[in-house]
Amino acid sequence: MPRLPIPDRPPFTLRARLLTPLGAGGYRYEADARLDVDAAGRLAAVAGWDTSLPAGSEKVIDLRPWIVLPGMVDLHLHLPQLPNAGLGAGLDLLTWLDRYIFPLERTFDRTAAEQLAPAAFRAMAAAGTTTALMYGAVFEGSLDAAFEAAEAHGIRAVIGKVMMDRLRYDPKLDESRVLEVSLRQSADLIDRWHGRDNGRLRYAVTPRFAVSCTAEMLRESAALARQTGTYWQTHLAEDRNEIQEVGRLFPDALDYTDVYDRAGGLSERAILAHAIHLSEREISRLAETGSRIAHCPSSNLFLSSGTMPLARYLDAGLVVGLGSDVSAGPDLSLFAVMRAGAYTQSGMRTMLSDPYPTLTPLEWLRLGSLEGARALKLEDAIGSVEVGKEADLIAVDPELTAPIPGLEHGEPEDLASRLIFRSHPDMVRAAWVRGRLLEGPPGA
Ligand SMILES: [Zn+2]
Repeated sequence: MPRLPIPDRPPFTLRARLLTPLGAGGYRYEADARLDVDAAGRLAAVAGWDTSLPAGSEKVIDLRPWIVLPGMVDLHLHLPQLPNAGLGAGLDLLTWLDRYIFPLERTFDRTAAEQLAPAAFRAMAAAGTTTALMYGAVFEGSLDAAFEAAEAHGIRAVIGKVMMDRLRYDPKLDESRVLEVSLRQSADLIDRWHGRDNGRLRYAVTPRFAVSCTAEMLRESAALARQTGTYWQTHLAEDRNEIQEVGRLFPDALDYTDVYDRAGGLSERAILAHAIHLSEREISRLAETGSRIAHCPSSNLFLSSGTMPLARYLDAGLVVGLGSDVSAGPDLSLFAVMRAGAYTQSGMRTMLSDPYPTLTPLEWLRLGSLEGARALKLEDAIGSVEVGKEADLIAVDPELTAPIPGLEHGEPEDLASRLIFRSHPDMVRAAWVRGRLLEGPPGA
């Protein structure tokens, strides 16, 4: 068993197995690695143990046989929806929203957020997520509570107040003031929270989707994101009925993507969830504008929304990361999302004769970490375990994924494969952001 205690603040040195994608491409695997985290929470050294300096410090913590990976980056989830996780499988999107989600979000005021958010962030860390891009509800106070909880917990969080001026669930607000109030509250939240704690907390302007937003709201929200240098997140082309409804609401648009394009929303700071039913024109336009895609395969299967031709998108040069989409996705774990994604791609290959190759387990790990960081334009800071980056790390016990204890793994492909296809709810033992230990994972 590893020695106690697991370090809770920098500086410290870890001795562990290491598996990480690399910014320059490819991977690094060390069966016995040394990771030095400096006082500022940055990776000062990443080396094989044999070639490193002698271990003189008392802050060397030997985590072997655990494996250190970069913390996972969840590009899409809905904080208020967590209590609904696992409910409503197989309903279509618009029915599911109406029956399960709007009633839940309607009650997500400041008090509800104060109760839920701390537990939610612990659960995310326990699932191996150290960065999350989230939707809140429409209520400003609930966003303050969510940011306060994220600030205290230590997770790297990007959150946005949901904006809706059509198909709304906040009937208290006078119709004529919805847009103005929503913009003002979003701007105030940006002032209070965007960039807090040296950029650990950030804001995403969050118009829910084209069915819930007028062209004016989409345009004004995109302008606000541009002016403030914040992200802009929404949903795109998730479900056939939804796409039909968008066509009815925006008859002049070429297609769903064009609705956001005309609003000025498409850019390298736009993160679009799902995007599973796209034409070649839409794929090219998204690639051209550098728009980011949050791929949520478990959600897409759960709500029978469809399957993403992922390899086609990657081939077109789209930046794609992974999202749990709780609660349309049932599970916060990005390892579970990778598994759903891999099965989806295998299914497409066998049933649809998809000509593109499926991704390897190591490629799925890259999507869940470094590509997620790239989607947020944070790839220079996080997403891989490399010198100079911030120490956003997780330590995973791979023994829990083996069918028989003590089994030898082929390394690193077999390790990655078991983390995805036999992931265990307790396998993430520790998670750090900037070298600070997050509450949630069970520890040693
Ligand atoms: Zn969503």
